[in-house]
Amino acid sequence: MKPDAVAVLSHELLSPLTLIRGYTATLLQLSEVITEEQKGQYLRGIESATNRVIRLLENLRDTARLEESDTPAVQPTFLPHLLRQTVCEMQGQTTRHVMKLRPSGPLPLVKVDQQKIEQVMTNLLVNAVKYSPHGGDIEIALRLVRNEQEVKEAFGRVPLLRLPCLVVSVSDSGIGIPEEELGRLFQRFYRINHKLTRTTPGAGLGLYICRIIVEAHGGRIWAGNKAQGGSVFCFSLPVD
Ligand code: ADP
Repeated sequence: MKPDAVAVLSHELLSPLTLIRGYTATLLQLSEVITEEQKGQYLRGIESATNRVIRLLENLRDTARLEESDTPAVQPTFLPHLLRQTVCEMQGQTTRHVMKLRPSGPLPLVKVDQQKIEQVMTNLLVNAVKYSPHGGDIEIALRLVRNEQEVKEAFGRVPLLRLPCLVVSVSDSGIGIPEEELGRLFQRFYRINHKLTRTTPGAGLGLYICRIIVEAHGGRIWAGNKAQGGSVFCFSLPVD
């Protein structure tokens, strides 16, 4: 394990575990004097810190599993349905952000491992929420790209894509990404050194997991910034 990984993981484990220890000690030592309301507050704190540890360990387990198995269990899928489902679930978890799924024209089916592509979408939407602290719109779009000309028109310069493909994009109105970091975001345990990132839970695994899944489908994932602020994450899925 690289030193960065040790630093990220130990921080991500130590902060919730220290909270849990603090709340538990208070509950044990002061149970006679604290109010029922305070007890509830400490117990909810313990629950949320425990969930943070579990999420981290689940991410680590998923990463190890994904690195081992290379062939996804694919089935023909109508992607707009899958996106709508994930977007609805994620919209239920925030009131400060408005998720807008842009209508797409007629689209072909694409062969994907549905659970895994749902995970990619969930990770991107969770990030769009986490890194847009003032809320705002989160736009999800889906388009068919048939040739190099269409790639250029839609995205400018992007990594070589297997064509034709469907491209999903998730754009937010958040803090954006420094240009020099755009290429590194998808590395394992990579987190940008920004004050919001330092106070936001995470271990730099979400985008790495997205990359492994998308690449196992023959696709690519990349990120950019919007001229008016906020970032855009896109991933492609080849249509056979
Ligand atoms: P985590 O969010 O757990 O740190 P990720 O792998 O999902 O890990 O993201 C890596 C880093 O990329 C984050 O730490 C954050 O700095 C940056 N990032 C990801 N998504 C966004 C976004 N939508 N806007 C701005 N920065 C982002």
